[in-house]
Amino acid sequence: MIDATSMDTTSHKGEDSNEMDQDVIAAQWNTVNDQLRGEIGEAAFQSWIKPIKIRSIENGVVHVTVPTRFMRDWVVAHYAERIATLWQSESPEIASLEVSVRSDRAPGQPREGIRRQTQPVNEASRNMSAERQGMSAALDSRFVFDNFVVGKPNEFAYAAARRIAEAESVPFNPLFLYGGVGLGKTHLMHGIAWHIRQTTPERTVLYLSAEKFMHRFVQAIRESTTMDFKDQFRSVDVLMIDDVQFIAGKESTQEEFFHTFNALVDQGRQIVISADKSPSDLVGMEERLISRLNCGLVADIHATTYELRLGILQSKAAQMRAEIPSKVMEFLAHKITSNVRELEGGLNRVVAHAQLIGREISIEATQDVLHDLLRANDRRVTIEEIQKQVANHFNIRLSDMHSARRARSVARPRQVAMYLAKQLTARSLPEIGRKFGGRDHTTVMHAVKKVDELKGLDTGFAEDIELLRRMLEG
Ligand code: ADP
Ligand code: MG
Repeated sequence: MIDATSMDTTSHKGEDSNEMDQDVIAAQWNTVNDQLRGEIGEAAFQSWIKPIKIRSIENGVVHVTVPTRFMRDWVVAHYAERIATLWQSESPEIASLEVSVRSDRAPGQPREGIRRQTQPVNEASRNMSAERQGMSAALDSRFVFDNFVVGKPNEFAYAAARRIAEAESVPFNPLFLYGGVGLGKTHLMHGIAWHIRQTTPERTVLYLSAEKFMHRFVQAIRESTTMDFKDQFRSVDVLMIDDVQFIAGKESTQEEFFHTFNALVDQGRQIVISADKSPSDLVGMEERLISRLNCGLVADIHATTYELRLGILQSKAAQMRAEIPSKVMEFLAHKITSNVRELEGGLNRVVAHAQLIGREISIEATQDVLHDLLRANDRRVTIEEIQKQVANHFNIRLSDMHSARRARSVARPRQVAMYLAKQLTARSLPEIGRKFGGRDHTTVMHAVKKVDELKGLDTGFAEDIELLRRMLEG
């Protein structure tokens, strides 16, 4: 047996262990890590592989540990075999991987399997919780787990959400869900809330948007009721804040949120957060808050795949009891790639039309009914295309889109390209800034404002922009 405990970064070196072997194991594990990272991407790597610690290698079996049962199940189901295979090519005697849950835990994280004590439900707390129900935003009755179609792009986020909803103790804190618009973040959060309300109604769940959180907070300050505000937020079992990117740049709200967050985590209460970007990409968020958000499980929902879109269409059509020819469904899944919300909207219109004309709908009719939606989905312009087209149009070098040159002759076209990137793509300001030689998001914001301004002052310029837009949209 090779004792490899020293690879746990936190633990000391084993006393009688063989240093050489440990180094070899560590090196092999590193190589496996590098390959895995390439295969599964950084986010999944950070979530699943990074927490793995190697305990020992015995008779060709690599014994590893992970912090929670949930992780163990996930790693076993998704990565164990691959890890073993990769390891085998480093060291042929390796046959399999055995994953168990380790009992050491990061400080402050409650142990799994220990039931959190629920408070006695007396009259006072019942009243409090009734009040809290009022604090919580209304839940959409359609947004339950049963209506959520699971596919590759969202299976991880879905599994994490389910785990939170079903857990008796806090499996990871917070759960940070992120992904583009209309990909199901709110749906999953409501799903968690519905499930908890149904199965453990004594647990109080507070769901609201970050925007509402801020308004409540500002209101509490105005009415001098901040103590009540704090009490209400700090006495819930599960706090869910949707679209947290909203409080970026809003310092005092962030401050309050940070303290609420810490108070709840310290008491072992569950927090679920959603945003349109990963914690580290949230511009205007305080560093300490970002690091807190990064502490739990970060799960991203990826853009939909054709299979998932088709699955969603089938599920929604069945719910509406609508008969749509499979050709039309495939057409829709193929054409509406932006997000699930638009996909749903498209389907609704097709169903409405079919009912109106009283017969099955054809692809031609679908094209007609959805021409605007299809057109918008047809051409997703890339920032690179915009840069090329604009550089061409103004007769500057493409490299000047990224350069630091500030002469008007290049700065203005660059601003135009930024403006068009904002208008024609779904990219965020920081993302656009990055593509223009790593500029700051405020530079992009300024460019957008400037171009808008100039369009109003100079009709020739406005026509130029319009022309560019039309060329880009094809
Ligand atoms: P987000 O909060 O990420 O912007 P939502 O949760 O509001 O997105 O989802 C937008 C719409 O798409 C909702 O009507 C939701 O029910 C639906 N939707 C998103 N993902 C799925 C899915 N996987 N299965 C079924 N419906 C989905
Ligand atoms: Mg949402």
